[in-house]
Amino acid sequence: MLEKLKDEVLEANKLLKSEELIKLTWGNVSGIDRDSGLVVIKPSGVSYDKMQRQDLVVLDLDGNVVEGELNPSSDTPTHLHLYKAYPQIGGITHTHSLNATAMCQMGQELPCIGTTHADHFYGTVPLARTLTKAEVDDNYELNTGVVIEETFTKNSINVMEVPAVLLHFHAPFTWGKSAMDSFKNSVALESCCEMALKALACGELQEMPQHIQDKHYLRKHGKNATYGQKLIK
Ligand code: 13P
Repeated sequence: MLEKLKDEVLEANKLLKSEELIKLTWGNVSGIDRDSGLVVIKPSGVSYDKMQRQDLVVLDLDGNVVEGELNPSSDTPTHLHLYKAYPQIGGITHTHSLNATAMCQMGQELPCIGTTHADHFYGTVPLARTLTKAEVDDNYELNTGVVIEETFTKNSINVMEVPAVLLHFHAPFTWGKSAMDSFKNSVALESCCEMALKALACGELQEMPQHIQDKHYLRKHGKNATYGQKLIK
């Protein structure tokens, strides 16, 4: 079942380790097959080196396990909430990458301070608020997804233009058209956070003018994009 999607989700999870976005088992990648409405996600607490395709868990959007012997990632309810809230999303990545997590722990959003950021994210990557005690006690992982949605709605941010969020006192989530795309957005977010932290160490973050943000984002994304090769996907 969903063998191609499993291959992609497995590869993206293993890349978290080889690209040094996580230590130990501190992260998870999932992907969704929109035709069947089924999600493939990594098992909880299994080492990325040892993880095999048959260890992945397949669930429906209500959280019922359809295939797999192991417990799904502890963050599964967050992933499922985001898939339900945003039908455009095809994959989600959660990491504890050091620089993005440092920004989360400082309670610092990520403004666009340069073209590297604008190539990937169209505007500030927002900081989602801390969950209340009731939200943590009731259903922490589900409410994490609810608070991410609240953050994007409140600030009128398009989730496909800014496919990332920093969770206060926690860590980042990114998403994209596919599982691999969401992984790449985690790589981009981590690099941008590293640059921001280096800039912060020397002074204040200075937001790049909007016209340069527009130029860099729109030449890579949307219907008039010119970046890359038309013939190569
Ligand atoms: P899982 O192994 O359950 O996905 O947990 C990873 C993690 O660190 C969650 O924040």
